[in-house]
Amino acid sequence: MSTAPFVIVGGGLAASTAAKTLRDEGYEGDLVIVAGEAHRPYERPPLSKDYLRGEADRSALFTVDEDWYADNAEVRSGQPATGLDTGARRLALADGTVLDYAKLLLATGSSPLVLPFPGADLRGVHLLRTVEQSDQLGVALRAAERVAIIGDGWIGMEVAASARQLDCEAAVFGLGAQPLERVLGPEMGLVFAQLHLDHGVDLRRRTRVAKILGEDGRAVGVETEDGERVDADLVLIAVGATPNTGLAVAGGLDLRGKDLGGGVAVDGTLRTGGADVWAAGDIASVPSPHFGRPIRVEHWQTAIDSGRHAARAMLGDDTVYDKLPYFFTDQYDLGMEYLGFTAGPDAYDEVVVSGSVESLEFVAFWTRNGRVLAGMGVNTWDRMGEVEALIRAEEPPGTAALQSFR
Ligand SMILES: Cc1cc2nc3c(=O)[nH]c(=O)nc-3n(C[C@H](O)[C@H](O)[C@H](O)COP(=O)(O)OP(=O)(O)OC[C@H]3O[C@@H](n4cnc5c(N)ncnc54)[C@H](O)[C@@H]3O)c2cc1C
Repeated sequence: MSTAPFVIVGGGLAASTAAKTLRDEGYEGDLVIVAGEAHRPYERPPLSKDYLRGEADRSALFTVDEDWYADNAEVRSGQPATGLDTGARRLALADGTVLDYAKLLLATGSSPLVLPFPGADLRGVHLLRTVEQSDQLGVALRAAERVAIIGDGWIGMEVAASARQLDCEAAVFGLGAQPLERVLGPEMGLVFAQLHLDHGVDLRRRTRVAKILGEDGRAVGVETEDGERVDADLVLIAVGATPNTGLAVAGGLDLRGKDLGGGVAVDGTLRTGGADVWAAGDIASVPSPHFGRPIRVEHWQTAIDSGRHAARAMLGDDTVYDKLPYFFTDQYDLGMEYLGFTAGPDAYDEVVVSGSVESLEFVAFWTRNGRVLAGMGVNTWDRMGEVEALIRAEEPPGTAALQSFR
């Protein structure tokens, strides 16, 4: 029998949840976590919210205590894995160390996309993924009068809200008719647009940034494609993320096509095509029994659920992963949770609302042929179980039932 350890590669929530689950489920062998950042694994949602605004402690990011790792796992932090030989069950680290493993979990997460903007390398241009980047952005926002945010997705809009809460003016540039349109569609994108307009955000919809402007090596604003100059003391590029699949590729593992969201292809137990290699969190493209297609989800709850599921699978459980995608956001006084999946604005017929959009207290349902694909509760809590029942219902619930949901 192999005495090699179980190894987890990753420094986020999927990695820490998997490690905890392995021990909770009785794994007694050696456990090594290879984390590329100089920290034990941590969670990221506060990095654009309360932590960014200086309202939460750094220690709150670390969901598993240092003491737990001391007793349960060897954490090799600041040490990215650079090579993978799945045939020999070996992992190479950046410092030249080679680790044998009995079973391996890849949980390498995502990195911010950097578009090749002229000026993207100027001082004062920020990305947001790590705790250090959040620290730097927080300091810069507090010192600035105005931030330009390129990208109107979740991170861009959350940072815009935090900037306004820090008394910094914010201009947000997005390509769609409304912010967050790719996930929410134009109807609910408009709700978020109005929220930000009400808080004084300078929302530039359907506006492409052509370049970041600099003086003496420092960003001083952006120029849009139609030649307008918008001044800013700092610039955040938040145009999406890309899964960190380099190690999986080095190990010869299959990736899913870009049309399906990319990522490492896994089966229903989160197992990759490599012997004894699983994948979880942002990088995993998992077949959804309910939606009948693979889905790759870049969200907090999926990192927890899939990390837990993969750990159990590493211990022999062959249950198929069947969680519906779930995510949340907090912007100003708006708290939201969303369950389900739509493959974009063309993939649903209508949005049915129950409650009051004006007073920002409602539940919205995205439907196709009467079936519920997804539901979103805005300032409405603890209803996701019922939303899930509607999504999974055999019979379409009917518009009237959805309208009277609240
Ligand atoms: C600013 C911000 C705000 C967010 N807010 C929300 C929110 O409000 N709601 C929500 O649902 N989701 C949110 N998310 C998304 C959520 O944080 C991610 O889905 C989650 O972090 C994914 O966890 P993960 O463990 O898969 O990967 P990650 O958290 O990305 O962790 C991956 C880790 O693996 C490390 N790594 C990569 N390659 C290697 C390698 N070769 N060797 C060793 N280590 C490696 C990386 O350095 C990183 O530390 C937010 C994300 C960010 C960045």
